[in-house]
Amino acid sequence: PIKGKRTRHYAFYEDLDIKQLSEDRLMEDVFEDALKNGEFQLWYQPKVDPVTGNILGAEALIRWKRPDGTMLSPGKFIPLFEKNGNITTLDEYVFRTVCAQQQRWLQAGATLYPISVNISRVSLYYSNVVDKYREILNSFRLDPKYVPLEITESATIDNSDISSLIEQFHEAGFTLLLDDFGSGYSSLSSLNVMHFDTIKLDKSLIDYIGDRNGEKLLLHITQLLQSFGMTITAEGVETSDQVEFLKNLHCDDIQGYYFSKPLPVNEFEDFVRKHTGL
Ligand code: C2E
Ligand code: MG
Ligand code: MG
Ligand code: MG
Repeated sequence: PIKGKRTRHYAFYEDLDIKQLSEDRLMEDVFEDALKNGEFQLWYQPKVDPVTGNILGAEALIRWKRPDGTMLSPGKFIPLFEKNGNITTLDEYVFRTVCAQQQRWLQAGATLYPISVNISRVSLYYSNVVDKYREILNSFRLDPKYVPLEITESATIDNSDISSLIEQFHEAGFTLLLDDFGSGYSSLSSLNVMHFDTIKLDKSLIDYIGDRNGEKLLLHITQLLQSFGMTITAEGVETSDQVEFLKNLHCDDIQGYYFSKPLPVNEFEDFVRKHTGL
């Protein structure tokens, strides 16, 4: 029996038998078919200026719409694809799809905003990852500032390897965001050698707001990051108190349910129209 949770758009079946799917000997075929049939969709979560309420950009987040109509959230299938290696193909597909979307907006005369794309750590292990992304970018003749890359820090990769990758991505013109900062793997000392442009404060840090010592920690962390010249995005922001506090810290971008959940592209376009300052 499948238990479903209704949302405005689709039913998200959190208990769908992904385990059975992963044990399927034909998982490779399932993935190939899903890719070919356009089952992977991108939803866009706005990043908003806490002072003006204007849109500053968005993050592209993947969802998998199975042929039976069920929607899978990335937490269900990304770990699986990280294990079997499909993640690299999927990450490239996401990057290409966002570049194509940006090109369509450009051709339609719309204002472009940076739409950040996630790259799994597993994809970073491939030696030609920077060349691959540069190639895709060039094929769309898109300015790399419109497709920043989000990388999660994890214990599994060497700091010296990641700082050299960061350098190569920077040479190709990309903006780099450190995702999930404060979620457990991140260490303060590594920031010294990893020259990210933007740090995304994890929801677990944002949830400190309201706690005396937690707020002090956030204050000093943001001051430290700002003194390094990094900009700050707050993730998982859900309340007006949190927005107020982050505004006072001069946090640059706010991303979270308070302003908007991730949206299908047409709803994202509506959001942009409503939140553009003239
Ligand atoms: P992430 O990159 O840290 O993305 C933020 C996640 O937090 C998203 O979950 C988003 O829907 C959720 N979120 C945003 N605001 C709020 C809030 O106010 N409250 C709460 N409770 N949650 C909020 P989602 O879309 O389920 O994605 C989960 C993770 O899956 C992402 O975390 C990212 O690590 C991964 N992911 C998503 N798309 C891709 C992709 O194309 N490639 C790769 N490699 N990973 C992806
Ligand atoms: Mg992210
Ligand atoms: Mg994150
Ligand atoms: Mg996350």
